[in-house]
Amino acid sequence: NKIVFDAIVVGAGPAGNSAAYTMANAGLNVLQIERGEYSGSKNVQGAILYSDALEQMIPDFREEAPLERHIVEQRIWMMDDRGHTGMHHRSDDYNEDLPNRYTIIRAQFDKWFNRQVRDAGATVLYETTVTGLLRDPRGQVIGVQTDREGEGYYANVVVLAEGVNGLVGQRSGLRSELRPEDVALAVKEMHFLPQETIESRFNITGDEGVVIEAMGTITEGMIGTAFLYTNRESISIGIGCLVSELSRVGKGSPYQLLDRFKAHPSIRGLLEGSEMKEYAAHLIPEGGYRAIPELVGDGWICVGDAGHFVNAVHREGSNLAMTTGRLAAETIITLNQRGQACTKKALGAYRQRLDDSFVMKDMKKYKDVPRMLEKQGSTIMDTYPRLMNGAAQTWFRVDGRDKKTKENEIVKAAWHVRGLGLLGDAVKLARAWR
Ligand code: FAD
Repeated sequence: NKIVFDAIVVGAGPAGNSAAYTMANAGLNVLQIERGEYSGSKNVQGAILYSDALEQMIPDFREEAPLERHIVEQRIWMMDDRGHTGMHHRSDDYNEDLPNRYTIIRAQFDKWFNRQVRDAGATVLYETTVTGLLRDPRGQVIGVQTDREGEGYYANVVVLAEGVNGLVGQRSGLRSELRPEDVALAVKEMHFLPQETIESRFNITGDEGVVIEAMGTITEGMIGTAFLYTNRESISIGIGCLVSELSRVGKGSPYQLLDRFKAHPSIRGLLEGSEMKEYAAHLIPEGGYRAIPELVGDGWICVGDAGHFVNAVHREGSNLAMTTGRLAAETIITLNQRGQACTKKALGAYRQRLDDSFVMKDMKKYKDVPRMLEKQGSTIMDTYPRLMNGAAQTWFRVDGRDKKTKENEIVKAAWHVRGLGLLGDAVKLARAWR
């Protein structure tokens, strides 16, 4: 007599944990399968946790979850080779009872989240890789095959939360291979420093944290961004570029870019004296709305990075993973309560839930950004950061030249580089941003 679970969840990242937690909490019989030694062992993120998505499921998560620092200051830097021009936003209002954003360390955070999944009643198998889907003669997915001996595991529905690579979905023909234009390769390091050093360098106390998001000449004209996040006793630093750009432009590997970023005059001092202990590389799905694959079929549903749910403009991924995981779970719970089969048609309600949420609204809002970047990449990543930093120098140096002359010089420099293209760039940006 084979056991048929209400649902099998493939993967124990934020998407899989959210789906498994929500279903187990509602009393469904859930099996979760994770190839890593534990949840979090295979996962890479900057990492900023957005409270709202987690609060929807575990309102009191702050009492136990391993959190590093709550963010009180956001810096956005446009970098040239020698410096940066930035926008800094800081407010004491972020020192609130229920902070909105935290830095986290995924290995610890995912482990904690997965413990909540188990406590809610789900069965979790670690060090087990799902190798394929089991189907009945009509093609309906009825379970999964794994690298463990045996015939596999059966369920009414399989939730694909396997992350960006999504090999189960790809091999089963549920979606096509990732296009290099739709995926970024990011590398990240952890640099350890005494807590007091971090606090004095970033002008923070207690649990306060600072994040820096950077773009500009640091990616050698390729489409990409870099980040630096403060943890309690470490700094996470990373950089990523579209895979298509890395192979086309050939201006160095992500590790070479990261080395250059760390040596940049604006960054060097922040890391001085630190000890690098961990590094990782991972893909990020950045193709946006148009790259979202088929999300449901007979007996399966797709969530998180596997569904290409990343808002690259706002650097949000884990919250979309959690929200899509929860919404898929709620769709399944409703069908389970009605005694309805998880057919493609019935699971289609997931799409409606997504459309009603911020997830699809945001994905749709930025649907033209990847294409705009494909065409305008080096102008946005190289030309404008150089112009902006040059303009700032002209403006701030006091050198006997009158201000009108300086203004003219700034306008002339921009005109010289872009000419009428300036107007076109503004229109294209405005269109993509709508
Ligand atoms: P994952 O976290 O990738 O989890 C998938 C899980 O499935 C893994 O545990 C994997 O081991 C398992 N798995 C895969 N295949 C199988 C299989 N066949 N069988 C069993 N298990 C399997 N997002 C933010 O919100 N904030 C940030 O600051 C941020 N920074 C980032 C920085 C970097 C460098 C990167 C790479 C990403 C960042 N993201 C950030 C994005 C965020 O990490 C992802 O959007 C999020 O992790 C997606 O969650 P997921 O559960 O869909 O996938």
